[in-house]
Amino acid sequence: MTEIQRQIRALAAQKGALILSHFYQTMDIQAVADVVGDSFELARRARQAAQPIIVLCGVRFMAESAKLLNPDKTVLLPAPDAGCPMADMVAPEDVDALREKHPGAAVMCYVNSSAAVKAKSDVCCTSSSAVRIARALPQRDILFLPDQNLGAYVAAQVPEKNLILFDGYCPIHHAVRPADVLAARAAHPDARVVVHPECRPDVVALADFVGSTAELLAHVENSPPGGIFVVGTETGVVERLRQTAPDKTVYLLKAGFVCPNMKKTRLSDLLRALETGAEAVEVDATVAAGAQRALERMVAL
Ligand code: SF4
Repeated sequence: MTEIQRQIRALAAQKGALILSHFYQTMDIQAVADVVGDSFELARRARQAAQPIIVLCGVRFMAESAKLLNPDKTVLLPAPDAGCPMADMVAPEDVDALREKHPGAAVMCYVNSSAAVKAKSDVCCTSSSAVRIARALPQRDILFLPDQNLGAYVAAQVPEKNLILFDGYCPIHHAVRPADVLAARAAHPDARVVVHPECRPDVVALADFVGSTAELLAHVENSPPGGIFVVGTETGVVERLRQTAPDKTVYLLKAGFVCPNMKKTRLSDLLRALETGAEAVEVDATVAAGAQRALERMVAL
């Protein structure tokens, strides 16, 4: 551990702070976290946290979710300008318009969305829980937002439901094209290609395995030694696998598969957040109850 990492751990212990890090954070941030997980695991751990302070090393919607699930805690976002372009693609008014057009449909909202959009939804989901939740909903018609790619993946897995897709996307995963998969296969002919369902359907169709961040990690880590993998998601997952699965060879599907917002948190930001209590995330009281209900329903399902 470096000196600043030791300072962060000491201050977290002194102040009673739980440090949560997403898998897409840089490895030096992951190394000082109490928990490293995907958005579902981070939401679950935030909800259970007994510590007075939760520090969320990730992007804003994750910190908002932590605050909604455990509202009595102070939730700090060390990189306050870390947003999610996909979450910004859908507004609460879009949900109103869709409901009017499709009365009777359930509104299922990916957690990569603002609290105001969650408040207009019936249930939230993560990439690891989306298929299960779509199956569990009583309605046949489901308005899925904002990610058209995750929605298309769910629709394929749950053919008994009618998914109506919003046209949002993650710019990082959506940038991958079938030609990138074919090039990776040509470069690494013995590799299995594993991708995240935020990738386009024509990319997903070419993969050997599709799963959420946690599922991709588990798939590679639990495979027999000596395996070769091309990984189609954010580079943080590949960096982590090089540590947790050193008996495998892991390649990033495409150069530049990086979420700039996830890389905004620096150790100095984390230390400053613990020292000063900035920036504490608050959720507008007018939307908090509705967003809490949609998130709690996700956790329950
Ligand atoms: S990887 Fe995509 S969905 Fe995740 S935070 Fe970055 S922009 Fe948003």
